Amino acid sequence: MNVYDSDRMADVLAPLGYESTQQAEEADLIILNTCHIREKAEDKVFSDLGRYRRHKNNASRNGKQTMIAVGGCVGQAIGEEILTRAPYVDMVFGPQSYQQLPEMLRKAELKQKVVELDFPEIAKFDQLPQPSAPKGGAAFVSVQEGCDKFCTFCVVPYTRGSEFSRPAADVLRESRDLAREGVCEITLLGQNVNAYHGEGGDGKEWGLGRLIRELAEIEGIKRIRYMTSHPRDMDDDLITAHGQVPQLMPFLHLPIQSGSDSILKKMNRKHKAADYLLIVDRLRSARPDIALSSDFIVGFPGETEDDFKETMRLVETVGYAQAFSFKYSPRPGTPAAENHSQVSEEVKAERLAELQDLLRKQQVAFNRVSVGQRMEVLFEKPGKLAGQYLGKSPYLQSVHVRSAENMMGKLCLVEITDAFDNSLAGKIIQQGNREAA
Ligand code: SAH
Ligand code: SF4
Repeated sequence: MNVYDSDRMADVLAPLGYESTQQAEEADLIILNTCHIREKAEDKVFSDLGRYRRHKNNASRNGKQTMIAVGGCVGQAIGEEILTRAPYVDMVFGPQSYQQLPEMLRKAELKQKVVELDFPEIAKFDQLPQPSAPKGGAAFVSVQEGCDKFCTFCVVPYTRGSEFSRPAADVLRESRDLAREGVCEITLLGQNVNAYHGEGGDGKEWGLGRLIRELAEIEGIKRIRYMTSHPRDMDDDLITAHGQVPQLMPFLHLPIQSGSDSILKKMNRKHKAADYLLIVDRLRSARPDIALSSDFIVGFPGETEDDFKETMRLVETVGYAQAFSFKYSPRPGTPAAENHSQVSEEVKAERLAELQDLLRKQQVAFNRVSVGQRMEVLFEKPGKLAGQYLGKSPYLQSVHVRSAENMMGKLCLVEITDAFDNSLAGKIIQQGNREAA
């Protein structure tokens, strides 16, 4: 989501003459697009700011003005505190305000401090320019924002605001324009993307399954993905779409967080481990080769050794292709942070290591069975070595190949020759934009 938001900020700033640079020393404006989900992410903002302050001072000695902005969820949550702790920051704004960047810049150029933390009444999507198409053939399209679920550990409902779905017509128009510019893979984005309930073309409310079916009709769209999903919003239509829409890729990121019902209840997830396992079964019946990924939190307040074992058991039962796992990080203002049964850092670290060891083994095993298989890979970027290209398999594995020809944006049939912990290597069997199977 932050990658998408950063690209949109670049689009909003392009008419003012701004273009992106990878070199902070070159920048007239440095925007930190921040994440507040865990404390570590917040700490990183302050260490990065220290570094950019030096660029600003150096530039100022050479008679150049460099502005520093903190956008995103840290800006939203602690914008005022940032201006106090780092007074050299010129602008702070939240994730719902970046369409106002041109105005903010005008103010900042007059040396006024800019603080833009309101949730605007007009949805920001209505005020944003059409996104520019990425070169690698794969694009994000934001369809849903915010969250009303209030899991007890999570800051998202406070920083991103309440749930909002874009009208289907807007999503389809944006996707058609991207397809015309050569995009063949669309990833629908939202904090709870499958809670999507936007206004449909027929005036009725459409769920995500319906939106995906319409998207699949667009010429040129060969791959569709969506993230992040909540188990409670995996409805029948969406599950059956996995078996019926060939463009819907056989990979789903479906976070459960914990395998213990008692912890799930304390997290306010409003589903049990068995509900999740049933969804997994139904998904596998609809699309037998579907690969799964999840997020896990270890050391949530009150998590016992038995609770943790239930998480390990669930991981054994499901078998993941990849997953993200984190130590519980108390976030100010969330109910779980006030809980008196916090788990020690030492126990959190032990449990995380044990869980990650199992998840890594599953990921390696999943990658190994790919060797010898032929699969379609969309090449999105050049690799580190000369003539190397990096792409994604249908199961979201990174695949690298060597090619004398430019493979960027091409969907090719690839035979997998080697498997590593985090990627695959292969050779191209058939080139070009073949139709998805
Ligand atoms: N909406 C998605 C997840 C969004 S947040 C869902 O409900 O599953 C992304 C991930 O960050 C979460 O899945 C969770 O695993 C992790 N996370 C969120 N808050 C956290 C916290 N306080 N400590 C540790 N991890 C957290
Ligand atoms: Fe956070 Fe996801 Fe829970 Fe919403 S559903 S509060 S985004 S973890």
